[in-house]
Amino acid sequence: MIKIENLTVKYGGISAVRKISFEVNEGKIVALIGNNGAGKTSTLKTISGLISPSEGRVFFEGNEITGMKPHEIAKRGLIHIPEGRHIFPNLTVKENLIMSSSSRNIAKAEFHEEMNNMLKNFKVLKERENQLAGTLSGGEQQMLAIVRGMLQAPKLLMLDEPSMGLAPLVVEDVFKIIKSINNNGVTVLVVEQNAQVALSAADYGYVMEVGEIILQDNADALLKSPQVKKIYLGEND
Ligand code: ATP
Repeated sequence: MIKIENLTVKYGGISAVRKISFEVNEGKIVALIGNNGAGKTSTLKTISGLISPSEGRVFFEGNEITGMKPHEIAKRGLIHIPEGRHIFPNLTVKENLIMSSSSRNIAKAEFHEEMNNMLKNFKVLKERENQLAGTLSGGEQQMLAIVRGMLQAPKLLMLDEPSMGLAPLVVEDVFKIIKSINNNGVTVLVVEQNAQVALSAADYGYVMEVGEIILQDNADALLKSPQVKKIYLGEND
């Protein structure tokens, strides 16, 4: 569904991403894991059109999207939930969700119906629909960011570090939601420093280090790989 070929991202003279190639197949959850500064965020931002690559090509559903504007890419159903969630703290939960209708060609009444149906599965947010988003807990804010992404009608959802700043039990809840979204037919590309949780949810994984993909395999195999265990899971065998 996504194909990346020889992608290079530079900031000034420094390469943050160096000639990486990878694919995300339809219906799967793919995890891109790696430590701070590995180039994961830069990769996602390039796919969603927020930054331009200095080299390489990005394809979505067989069509090249390299260099397209972010809103054109979002309209095709490739939706990016950025690191830090980027919700509007001074707007209510509902107002934050309504903002997501701007990228869609949908009648107001139809959007509201979709939103209300979606909120039935997120009772915590439904109960807080008139609360300012900035007063939500970290986990609730992440759920809001995910629901907002879902209301943009994704075919493929890209999530940047959804576990960031959340307690372990909340992280589990967030990944359960990601799994259920995938079970409902949305392909997922998730970027994570938390290798354990991301690979446990994923079908396939790529490991990034200093701008390069150093390992790739089925997620189960990566969880068992000595290299991943040592570097990312803090285990020695
Ligand atoms: P993190 O999990 O910390 O976000 P990451 O793997 O997502 O890490 P990136 O954010 O893509 O990594 O950063 C990759 C490299 O690019 C880092 O060395 C970072 O300092 C650098 N970088 C990122 N954004 C910029 C920018 N706007 N200007 C200059 N350098 C940048």
